[in-house]
Amino acid sequence: MRTFSDPQKLQRWCASVRESGRKVALVPTMGALHDGHLSLIAAAKKAGADEIVVSIFVNPTQFGPNEDYAKYPRDAKADSSKCRRAGATAVFFPTPDNMYAADHSVWVVEDGDLSDCLCGARRPGHFRGVCTVVAKLFNLVHPHVAVFGQKDFQQATIIRRMVRDLNFDVEVLVAPIVRESSGLALSSRNAYLSEEEKANALALSQSLAGLKAGPWAVQRRRIVKCLEKRGLKVDYVEAVDSRNLRPVKAIKSGTAVLLAVYDGKTRLIDNRVFR
Ligand code: AMP
Repeated sequence: MRTFSDPQKLQRWCASVRESGRKVALVPTMGALHDGHLSLIAAAKKAGADEIVVSIFVNPTQFGPNEDYAKYPRDAKADSSKCRRAGATAVFFPTPDNMYAADHSVWVVEDGDLSDCLCGARRPGHFRGVCTVVAKLFNLVHPHVAVFGQKDFQQATIIRRMVRDLNFDVEVLVAPIVRESSGLALSSRNAYLSEEEKANALALSQSLAGLKAGPWAVQRRRIVKCLEKRGLKVDYVEAVDSRNLRPVKAIKSGTAVLLAVYDGKTRLIDNRVFR
């Protein structure tokens, strides 16, 4: 497995790999890797990638001023060996300074209905940071395939739109949410949780599991009650059309139900898409 930190070296290597006719996959992450991230590497393998590049970058531009950028878990050594064991063929560990020039001034913004709701409404500038870093990674790696997780459903939806609207020559795959046997969705931020907070966090997956097709308002009330009973502070509980993220009044095929809560100081998200 190769390790890169210089964007230009990564770009040159990826170009030569592509030139030789090999299929390149990109798995963008912020590190502190868990089995959810590793499932994206497995999905890239399954898609027939010859080279799988995992980027590990805590991207400062997608964090708000009062968010957890400084304390976000970082463990390059452990991440590197997890990538190797999972079958990645390259890891990219850039620094903020070699990703962003001091006078960086060009941004990629989803300027429609996909970013003004859900996490986008609560985390101003978040998706601008995400789209910009993903566009930069696409330009560095020029992957045939890029793999994202359904765990960040709004992010995956916005990235698909970016690829369509800006004609990126990349196939976007979205892999299912990997959960602990308890139902808790794996997340790097779970490391912040105390035992008690972790037990309370089960209310997210349990609420989603209990949903049924039919009117939303009454089910929403039930979920909010269940989350609050466990001491979770609701950030949002919404049912939307999974294609355009607009609110819906009933759950049916094509609906996504998305939750965001504060469990103590930790913000957790989860979702369920009805197929
Ligand atoms: P992050 O490192 O949190 O930015 O996540 C990097 C990628 O891993 C994103 O595409 C996430 O959606 C995906 N991911 C995070 N958690 C999970 C999970 N539990 N199951 C599947 N994919 C995940």
